[in-house]
Amino acid sequence: MTVTAAPPTDWLTHSQELPLETRAFIAGKYRAARSGATFERINPATGEHLAHITACQSEDIDDAVKAAREAFESGVWRDQSPLERKAVLLKFAELIRQHNEELALLETLDTGKAIGETLRVDASSLARDIQWYAESIDKLYDEVAPNGAGSLVLVTREPIGVVAAVVPWNYPLIIAGWKLGPALAAGNSVILKPAEQSSLGAIRLAALGQEAGLPSGVFQVTPGLGHVAGQALGLHPDVDAIGFTGSTEVGRKFLEYSAASNLKRVGLELGGKSAQIITPDADLERAAMYVAYGIWYNQGETCNAGSRVIVHESVKDELIEKLRPWAEKLAPGNPLDPASPLGSLIDESHLQKVLGYVELGVQQGATVAIGGQRVMQESGGAFMQNTVLDNVTNDMRVAREEIFGPVLAVISYQNLDDAVRLANDSDYGLAAAVWSRNISTAHKVARRLRAGTVWVNCFDHTSVNAPFGGYKQSGHGRDKSLHAFDKYTELKTTWIELYE
Ligand code: NAP
Ligand code: MG
Repeated sequence: MTVTAAPPTDWLTHSQELPLETRAFIAGKYRAARSGATFERINPATGEHLAHITACQSEDIDDAVKAAREAFESGVWRDQSPLERKAVLLKFAELIRQHNEELALLETLDTGKAIGETLRVDASSLARDIQWYAESIDKLYDEVAPNGAGSLVLVTREPIGVVAAVVPWNYPLIIAGWKLGPALAAGNSVILKPAEQSSLGAIRLAALGQEAGLPSGVFQVTPGLGHVAGQALGLHPDVDAIGFTGSTEVGRKFLEYSAASNLKRVGLELGGKSAQIITPDADLERAAMYVAYGIWYNQGETCNAGSRVIVHESVKDELIEKLRPWAEKLAPGNPLDPASPLGSLIDESHLQKVLGYVELGVQQGATVAIGGQRVMQESGGAFMQNTVLDNVTNDMRVAREEIFGPVLAVISYQNLDDAVRLANDSDYGLAAAVWSRNISTAHKVARRLRAGTVWVNCFDHTSVNAPFGGYKQSGHGRDKSLHAFDKYTELKTTWIELYE
């Protein structure tokens, strides 16, 4: 394992020298769209031009799907033994580690995430997850159904075929890995469509996959606009499965595309409005730290962000006071400065949307307890203060809608049944948490919370070996863990009659 340390150079110089590949990777090589179409990406931390990126159109998606299908039918990948596929994917993980700095910098330039975090977290998580799936595939046994002496009934898993992974911009490499890991390990051909705000890391990844030994057509990357490239994948009659992460609104579209085309399987990881219930006997010091990271980490652009705190009225003010120093400590800064804990939001229009929610909250009766303002405007970037809205009620739009920015809604409660009811009173069900020193209280509440992940006395602890996904309109199907193979494999029953 080689994780290279940050170089002693300054990252600004490094970024100016970094060559940017901006084209699609189709059928084993980088190429422009047939039409030559591109779209512009602006660096969200400076407001300046970053790159013109290939905008795949439906004919380019057709090319990619054709190459993916040919690779799949030829057996060049799926018919390799699990040991052989494992070796290629382990090499892929190793190459990602070797390019940690470069991938981190691409991610920072594209998304405004702080370089300290992209170096520490993003590409290394991707490598770790790819490695985990690589290591799993020669340890997964199939089944024999208990059917008596007259027959042998095999239940085996087969790759589903051509998989399109359509991913968002908030953790571009990490979320891509949650799809690529199991889909490639199972033997599928995968086409990755990154969000238009975060194409560069995905584009670079394609060449690393090829270098690792993934055959032509097995892993392709098709950047482009969602309503063009994303829709073409969703509607394509020869795509067998979609692994989608993104908003509930676009997730709904993928179900429509499936219904309107070939009934392709659709796995959906969607938005959230995750509640943290804080009881009066909670360790408030510890809770405050987790609440702060839970809402502000990654500028609040996290699907499972703990964006609603439901706190007992007797400890509410104390909790807010304990959040104040954290808001300062985690204040955003220049993303190319390794000392910045946080960077900019994804773009100017998103910043305006988030600021609009603060205003809306105030109009509906909430009060701004911490932050609430744009900062560092002179940089040209989309930076915002860590923000707490107090006196929120669960019917306000700031409590019901996903803001996807650094804005915490604080709701108080009097009795625990109400707290659970409020937490569950949401269209979303991605994650939740309960804070209590009483193990019975914590466990009883955890059972009653309708969410795919419930944390007890912590928040946002994750591991690739634990499933992740949502209840209700936060989606269906699970990423991570061995359960993710369900999305990208078919179960085959082979019935062998044992006659004389
Ligand atoms: P988004 O707008 O839904 O986009 C997600 C992906 O879908 C992007 O690649 C996007 O491409 C594409 N897309 C957009 N419109 C499309 C259309 N009409 N047809 C086909 N594809 C289309 O989400 P986002 O703004 O990138 O990310 C934020 C959302 O993702 C939040 O709601 C967040 O909660 C959710 N999220 C969920 C999880 C989870 O695991 N549950 C994790 C992270 C994020 P373009 O961007 O190029 O248009
Ligand atoms: Mg988008």
